[in-house]
Amino acid sequence: MELKNHTLIKRINRVKILNSIRLHAPIARSQIADMTGLDRKSLTNFISEFLAEGIVSEAGKQEQRMGRPFTMLRFADNLAAGGIYIAPDMTAGVLVDLSGNKVVSARRDFSLYSPKELIISKVKEVYEELKASGLKMYGFGLCVPGVIESGSGLVRASVNLPSLVGRELRNDFGPLIQEQLYIEDASRSKALAEKWFGAGRGASDFVCVDLDVGVGMGIVNNRALYKGAADYAGEIGHVVIERNGRLCRCGNRGCLEAYLARNVVLDEMNRAAGTHFLRLEDFNAGLNGNLQTLLEGYGAKLAMALGTVVNLLSPKIIILNGGLVECFGNVMLPIISREISSCCLGETLSSTKILASDLEFSAAFGGASLVLSDIFEVPGHFCV
Ligand SMILES: [Zn+2]
Repeated sequence: MELKNHTLIKRINRVKILNSIRLHAPIARSQIADMTGLDRKSLTNFISEFLAEGIVSEAGKQEQRMGRPFTMLRFADNLAAGGIYIAPDMTAGVLVDLSGNKVVSARRDFSLYSPKELIISKVKEVYEELKASGLKMYGFGLCVPGVIESGSGLVRASVNLPSLVGRELRNDFGPLIQEQLYIEDASRSKALAEKWFGAGRGASDFVCVDLDVGVGMGIVNNRALYKGAADYAGEIGHVVIERNGRLCRCGNRGCLEAYLARNVVLDEMNRAAGTHFLRLEDFNAGLNGNLQTLLEGYGAKLAMALGTVVNLLSPKIIILNGGLVECFGNVMLPIISREISSCCLGETLSSTKILASDLEFSAAFGGASLVLSDIFEVPGHFCV
């Protein structure tokens, strides 16, 4: 037990120092000591380790009014965390430096319902393009829409990537991606992306609702992703909003996703407009009365489910994300704001902001966030 505690304390101190550098670089050893409360000897040992590992480098001297100049420290500029998102029809990857700035991105498209061999080969191309940057990778986070086991990467269900269902992604991508590999479902990854890069920065409790090929939700509770007892927390897409309603792919009736999944929305809008568009973006040229009515209905249904979220979780922010919001957020947000007040307690709602995400490729950033979380966080401990 004593050894376990010692290892944990060492890990917490290491992470505190790394966060001081992440948030305040260039920074001197004495400033890190003031921020972390660590004694000089321990700090010197940690910094020597970081310099030897190549994580930290010296960034010149800063003159002082009295005494010797400070040697400033910052992260080595050749380090990166990677994220790759596999969507139903494309794969996108990003690299971010350890301070969270995007360094490079890559993308490859493929057809819907492609075989797994083709998907793996496109991911390989993205990975190799990112690796060509020459940066030293800390790890890669791989994100896929569906019901995914985060450890093995077993894809339990994925309507739009059927060739990956039943596969253990760690087996398929482990031999390809040489760095440490993290795997998570896309909706939760998007919540992490908001926490590190988007509207969730600085918020300890928020949710991110993903309205795309499916409907999912990542819950950030006390700064950490909440997964629930069976690792399924956040399945807002299968909240029933209409008794005996439309059949959902899960087998139940009246689930939110049966009304708001991207392909369902696309089909309905095409029928209403007499068009044959393949993408939601194509409707942005003009929303006639029929389409406005449809969007009103989508907003009202979403407000019902979000009202339940507000009542149960009282999140500080609800961030809406995904294709439906990217295309029609400006129409749907006012509808949601109007409708949600009749679906939850006013006192609770008044503490919750509802807004649209402004992150592009957020699931790929979510992958990189999995890596950053491992470097800069210790589960159950606040290390900033
Ligand atoms: Zn369902």
